[in-house]
Amino acid sequence: MSYDAGPVAALRRIAFLLERAREDTYKVKAYRAAAATLLPLPADEVAARVDAGTLTELPGVGASTAKVVAAAVRGEVPERLARLEAEQAGPLVEGGRAHRAALRGDCHSHSDWSDGGSPIEEMAFTAIELGHDYLVLTDHSPRLKVARGLSAERLARQLDVVDAVNAHLVARADAGPGEGFTLLKGIEVDILDDGGLDQSDEMLARLDLRVASVHSKLQMERAAMTRRMVAAVRHPRTNVLGHCTGRLVTGGRGTRAESSFDARAVFEACAESGTAVEINSRPERRDPPTRLLELARDVGCLFSIDSDAHAPGQLDFLDHGCERAEAAGIEPDRIVNTWPRDRLLAWAAGDTSVR
Ligand SMILES: [Zn+2]
Ligand SMILES: [Zn+2]
Repeated sequence: MSYDAGPVAALRRIAFLLERAREDTYKVKAYRAAAATLLPLPADEVAARVDAGTLTELPGVGASTAKVVAAAVRGEVPERLARLEAEQAGPLVEGGRAHRAALRGDCHSHSDWSDGGSPIEEMAFTAIELGHDYLVLTDHSPRLKVARGLSAERLARQLDVVDAVNAHLVARADAGPGEGFTLLKGIEVDILDDGGLDQSDEMLARLDLRVASVHSKLQMERAAMTRRMVAAVRHPRTNVLGHCTGRLVTGGRGTRAESSFDARAVFEACAESGTAVEINSRPERRDPPTRLLELARDVGCLFSIDSDAHAPGQLDFLDHGCERAEAAGIEPDRIVNTWPRDRLLAWAAGDTSVR
């Protein structure tokens, strides 16, 4: 079988497939590092190194990545890539396929500006490759220091970078990929103890969409937690309530119990104020739990199926959330990220006529 996408595309695709299969980070990083080394090199230099057998003299290129590069340069499908495509490329789960096909984008993602593992551009390019029309970049807010939450100043700088990424995409739009895609400005803002949001209103106002999440004092007493969450979802700038219970069901960080709050009161406040309840697709979260997902459905909430990706391969986690939305019988039109970009933006800006 012939292969004409070139060595960088092969290395990036392998990294993506390993990452979505939740393989060890160091393996994924090896492929991304090799891709980064190869990217600026002229094709004839790479070809000469393949012939001379000197690829591994390049920083970040080892024996297995060199094998991939050599095959791609010869126009053959690299063996590692073929194997991964065969074993890993399909949907992550059986269910939710119609919902997944209906999604146009993703409202919750992180870059290496906070606790994500990849640069903004890599996240954007991967979102384009997944066929998204938009990706909302939602790095953390200042108080979440362990996640390098962005101060107002750093967020302002990030917005300039987002503009630059979009300008670059527009410039190459007639080249095909990237056409019609927009990287949107967002935040995952911490919900403070009193239900306020952990960023200046001036900065919140400059964003396209805001996810608000509880990351501290998750075991707050029930009545206080309910007041806190109701205030946050009623905040005029809040668009999405992130991972509402904070539970962890599996994985490297161990497990964590659900926060205790009056879910009906919180979801009724969401429904009234047009705030979407997030269906967080991360396998270790599965948040909200099914009984609460069904409650939010019955209360009449909007939803957002989010990857909460901290790395490019995790952008595909949406499959998990889609399976759960379908199982709960949630209609695609109640899921805000099935909406075209302009409708999403109008809703997020507070236009009640588009709900
Ligand atoms: Zn979060
Ligand atoms: Zn997040």
